[in-house]
Amino acid sequence: MRFSLVNFWRQARRGHTGWPEQWRKAEPARSYDVVIVGGGGHGLATAYYLAKRHRVGRIAVLEKGWIGSGNTGRNTTICRSNYLRPESIALYDHALELWQSLSEELDYNVMFSPRGVLVLAHTRHEVEVLKRHVHADRLAGVDNAWLTPREAKAFCPPLALDSLRFPVLGAALQRRGGTARHDAVAWGYARAASTLGVDICEGCEVTGMRIEAGRILGLETTRGAIATGCVGLVAAGHGSVLAAMAGLQLPIESYPLQALVSEPMKPCFPCVAMSGTIHAYLSQSDKGELVIGAGTDQYPSYGQRGSTWVIEEAVEAIGELFPAFRRVRMLRQWAGIVDVTPDRSPIIGPTAIEGLWLNGGWGTGGFKATPGSGELFAWSIAHGRPHPILAPFALDRFATGRSIDEAAAAAVAH
Ligand SMILES: Cc1cc2nc3c(=O)[nH]c(=O)nc-3n(C[C@H](O)[C@H](O)[C@H](O)COP(=O)(O)OP(=O)(O)OC[C@H]3O[C@@H](n4cnc5c(N)ncnc54)[C@H](O)[C@@H]3O)c2cc1C
Repeated sequence: MRFSLVNFWRQARRGHTGWPEQWRKAEPARSYDVVIVGGGGHGLATAYYLAKRHRVGRIAVLEKGWIGSGNTGRNTTICRSNYLRPESIALYDHALELWQSLSEELDYNVMFSPRGVLVLAHTRHEVEVLKRHVHADRLAGVDNAWLTPREAKAFCPPLALDSLRFPVLGAALQRRGGTARHDAVAWGYARAASTLGVDICEGCEVTGMRIEAGRILGLETTRGAIATGCVGLVAAGHGSVLAAMAGLQLPIESYPLQALVSEPMKPCFPCVAMSGTIHAYLSQSDKGELVIGAGTDQYPSYGQRGSTWVIEEAVEAIGELFPAFRRVRMLRQWAGIVDVTPDRSPIIGPTAIEGLWLNGGWGTGGFKATPGSGELFAWSIAHGRPHPILAPFALDRFATGRSIDEAAAAAVAH
């Protein structure tokens, strides 16, 4: 049932008791044309575009928990495309373009809010690095502007310019950047994909792979074996665990990355602010909570909690940069596991096993890419070759040395 004014009015007359389930709770079938492992935003988007644009018939998304229970439902929702390298700018800006009309595409309000993303510079080194990003983006035709400290303060009034530890020496501003509602992205893609016939199987963990003569033949799951000749691994945080089932070793380290939210407040923070020096980024949600992202733990782990000192340092620094928030109480904290590659760029493309595709290694910044990643990964699977925008992100770049170094583009040093 479409979300239209007419349907809303009809349902309102019935006390909103007649809305159908947003997506079918599917039982896994014995075989599929394509199986996507991982029911996060990227996996669900891939399934949606495979069904919608490429008319692939029998598709399943297998999710070990519930959809969005991975990093999609745990991130701080920042969307931007102000990266350094041409390959990344092309990928992330393609996604940013798709964000503009995603609510209409899915008939689901993903609450995309392009309120501007401000990246602060606190040292001379950071000024140089961020100006380099501004120039690279503008050369590629992507908006990014350099602001003086006063201009940064005018754009983000709660910002203090006179912090002794973290003086603001300038900032890079991408006005088209902003936030979107992460759960709505997962739910919107799930609903749209399910309407097109995709089976979304929650509580279905992949435990093994059947591979013969270098070809994928099927998957072992906690809900039985599934035959398929085409599998997309889209399991951020557990990419290397799944790849190991196929005998592949990925250049990935997995770390907990933390976030926390405050008590709700009246609207007081009009933009998104990020700082690499303090390893923190914040915005205000539509509910009024400050949404704060902190850094990664310093050691690999699969514990979805994170160390206390990481958030303590982030909150302390935020108190210095935004003194008005010093007495705000924090409500809750959590972590997600992020798969980090040596050059901080994702790995997307085919693997040495025929029919087995990989989409992972997004590290601390894959939410912003969700629609672009899904659309281009679906294109690649449907055509049997990587989409030209994705081609540079192939696994073999670590053998050829054509790395895409984006360490400075993340607000999180890792
Ligand atoms: C605290 C935090 C803040 C972040 N902030 C931002 C941000 O502001 N902006 C940004 O762009 N990015 C951000 N990120 C990164 C972003 O969240 C991820 O890159 C992105 O959501 C990855 O999406 P996904 O669909 O690939 O993965 P996920 O949403 O993690 O989905 C993968 C799914 O695979 C499932 N899975 C794993 N193993 C199996 C198995 N064996 N069988 C079946 N299913 C399995 C998992 O349960 C999971 O649901 C943040 C991440 C964290 C943790």
